[in-house]
Amino acid sequence: MIPGPFSYHRPATLADAVKLLSTLGDEARPLAGGHSLVPMMKLRLASPEHLVDLHGVAGLKGIRRDGNKIVIGAMTTQHELLASDEIGLSLPILDETALLIADPQVRYRGTVGGNVANGDPGNDMPALMMTLGASYRLEGKSGGRDVAASEFYQGAYFTALEPGELLTAISIPVPPAGHGYAYEKLKRKVGDYATAAAAVVLTLKGGGEVASCSIGLTNVAETPLWAEDAANILVGSRLDAATVKQAVAAAEAITSPASDQRGPAQYRTKMAGVMLARALARAKERARP
Ligand SMILES: Cc1cc2nc3c(=O)[nH]c(=O)nc-3n(C[C@H](O)[C@H](O)[C@H](O)COP(=O)(O)OP(=O)(O)OC[C@H]3O[C@@H](n4cnc5c(N)ncnc54)[C@H](O)[C@@H]3O)c2cc1C
Repeated sequence: MIPGPFSYHRPATLADAVKLLSTLGDEARPLAGGHSLVPMMKLRLASPEHLVDLHGVAGLKGIRRDGNKIVIGAMTTQHELLASDEIGLSLPILDETALLIADPQVRYRGTVGGNVANGDPGNDMPALMMTLGASYRLEGKSGGRDVAASEFYQGAYFTALEPGELLTAISIPVPPAGHGYAYEKLKRKVGDYATAAAAVVLTLKGGGEVASCSIGLTNVAETPLWAEDAANILVGSRLDAATVKQAVAAAEAITSPASDQRGPAQYRTKMAGVMLARALARAKERARP
């Protein structure tokens, strides 16, 4: 439970942080809240020779509205999300999800940027960011670029981040007023990662038909999943039982969970379907045409 030796760096600017990371190369890792990285170092699953602490870097924190988008600085903590009126009003599904992450102690330190950059399929925010159509701002030595959350995750702990690149902000289009939403997470106990979880954001037409729908799944594959086919099945329906069953089957079909201490693969796939059906029902209840 003792990490290997490492050098500690605390840059004050983004330019210095990027320069340090590119100079130090593969042996350096950014340090945000430390609530995924430090446990991995203690278990010797990660042994970086250099930690580049982002807490001193100006401009990486905060939540602001930019037109029809909410921009969240990477170093904003999960607790700060929960405390934000702007998030509560515009993106209540972020609050619902953040409250299901671990416990207050983890949420005080754990950052939104760390949660989405980590690449652990068990993290709750990535599937939600896919569902919301979010994009990530990445900054490296050759400049900045934006990558859609739906294209960021490549495998367990493999993301579109290039060596030396930092994720600096997350940009989320604000869903229309009256949208329905829900994040349903099955976990063995408070503070646990998901056995399976589902995020739903939808809008309804005047007659109660689904106008738009987006679905994400957590911890049922090597990456978070965006269940596009399942969502498309629901568009135009009134979320009747037969169509929901068809969509649930389409979502289950794209899962490939590992059998682990949270249950055998087949059980976790079925639980993803159950979470999705519950999330759809709750999103429908909340939606106003
Ligand atoms: C007991 C416990 C229970 C937990 N339960 C859950 C849970 O149920 N759901 C959940 O989602 N999470 C859970 N977590 C993880 C927690 O949410 C972490 O805080 C989060 O995964 C990582 O955020 P962090 O700020 O702590 O990042 P760190 O641990 O500092 O970093 C994580 C990884 O991301 C990289 N990184 C961090 N920031 C950046 C950046 N800006 N740019 C590029 N790379 C970056 C780091 O180099 C590292 O590889 C739990 C943690 C604990 C200790």
